[in-house]
Amino acid sequence: MDYRKLADLLFPHITKTPQDYEAVYPPRQLPEGARVTRLAPSPTGFIHLGNLYSAFVDERLAHQSGGIFFLRIEDTDDKRFVEGAVETIVGSLDYFGIEFDEGASVEGESGEYGPYHQSRRAELYQACVKQLVQQGHAYPCFLTEEELSEIRAKQEAEKQNPGIYGRWAVSRSLSYEEIEEKLKQGVPYVVRLKSSGKTDVPAEEMDTITVSDAIRGEITMPANNMDIVILKATGIPTYHFAHVVDDHYMRTTHVVRGEEWLSSLPVHIELFGLMGWQPPVYCHTAHLMKIGEEGTKRKLSKRKDPELSLDYYRRDGYYPPAVREYLMTLLNSNFEEWRIANPEESLDAFAFSTEKMSNSGALFDLDKLRDVCKDVLVRVPASELAAFLKKWAGEFRPELLPLFEEQEEQLEKILDLGRSGNKPRKDLVYAEQIFEFIRYFFDDYFVIEGELPENVSAEDASQILQRYLATYDHSDDQSTWFEKIRTIASDLGYAAKPKDYRKNPDQYKGHVGDVSTVIRIAVTGRTQSPDVWEIQQILGEERTRERIKSYLER
Ligand code: GLU
Repeated sequence: MDYRKLADLLFPHITKTPQDYEAVYPPRQLPEGARVTRLAPSPTGFIHLGNLYSAFVDERLAHQSGGIFFLRIEDTDDKRFVEGAVETIVGSLDYFGIEFDEGASVEGESGEYGPYHQSRRAELYQACVKQLVQQGHAYPCFLTEEELSEIRAKQEAEKQNPGIYGRWAVSRSLSYEEIEEKLKQGVPYVVRLKSSGKTDVPAEEMDTITVSDAIRGEITMPANNMDIVILKATGIPTYHFAHVVDDHYMRTTHVVRGEEWLSSLPVHIELFGLMGWQPPVYCHTAHLMKIGEEGTKRKLSKRKDPELSLDYYRRDGYYPPAVREYLMTLLNSNFEEWRIANPEESLDAFAFSTEKMSNSGALFDLDKLRDVCKDVLVRVPASELAAFLKKWAGEFRPELLPLFEEQEEQLEKILDLGRSGNKPRKDLVYAEQIFEFIRYFFDDYFVIEGELPENVSAEDASQILQRYLATYDHSDDQSTWFEKIRTIASDLGYAAKPKDYRKNPDQYKGHVGDVSTVIRIAVTGRTQSPDVWEIQQILGEERTRERIKSYLER
């Protein structure tokens, strides 16, 4: 068969060669060791934690080495295309502080290695397929859907591996004339790789390939022997071929992708080899797992786990640097140790490495994320937290925005409550929770929820509050204020010190803690809160008195 003639028959409109494209997309001029990475999502409109997790790896690899991180949209499957998907992807990652240097963007595309939408690169892919046909490494296949299912059924019955290979690859033997005839009749066809893998030997005699994965180390797998589809009937390539071409011409050095791609690695290695290109360094990340309801590890699922969606974190107002901090604990096992030694350093100062990544499933734990949030937030200045809270409210709880704006100055003090000193309170976790935690400062959201301590009768509570109101002086310092509460306690039969009560519980109704809880409930509505004196200083004298009075009038 004259493969050149066949290539011209299939691709008469393609005049450029892969060699021509080498000049269009020259090697990048970057410092030695700089890495070029990409995120290559399908535009399905759903962006999840797994995407963020791998985007973070890409981003660190690139930016830690003075390289480039770009966005490529893998839209070769138009059934999965969702309008506005690029906005969603860019917007969600940007929220978490992950920015691209190049590629698809909301404003269009930027960079010299585009187009960055696969659907716009048909000619380039076809030029590459044309070369494979010319060299006898690819061929048109005319098998219909029905024929393919018949083959599948036979293979099942004969307990053979599914797929097109060996004797099943019937289109391999078509003559030029037969192909020409089918084309004339307009019979649809795909282009398949003519794999050089052995198909007629037992598994143990198959050739193997060995690839050095940056996360998993050396992996040895059977070489590919399947005639996989590289170009679909529409003239658009499959993922396998498209990513090979793109990562070559976009000069990607490291491909970070999920472990679900590991099984097709031999196909990709064969394709790179046939094109005469050096494959990138592959980094196959482990799945994000969680401990499911049954107590066993399982993959995070779109259907069962709302926390898989990135929207979940935006809606609840997780502070982006805290989420990044947590992801880094998942990514690199030595990060927590580094953080303890470098509490003040920016996350970017940590030397992230793929070798320290787990290859057996990263265990995602919402409680752990929240703990990390507490540790991160305690170091964030109140002014920054206030700005973050307002931004979140503007987007997700617009009704709260005027409240925050009216009490602009107080808001920072509220957020800073109990955060000074060497044992700062770690009350703040994420925006929705923070609002819940501080809402008693806003009259519309103030409700009495706390129950009186069991040692205190309603009658006593009212006595306590009347005395408190009568002696209240807003200018008292904290210790004078507390002394007054001790006095009220002993006057009403409560121990002025908890330890006195513990020694002789029969002599008292309760202790000063019970008395101050009553005051706390009147002022905050709750039995637990930061320091009441400080809260009152923020509320101001008038509102403090009003709250006590209104409790008494209930
Ligand atoms: N479009 C593929 C996906 O969304 C990309 C895999 C890759 O990064 O190469 O899974």
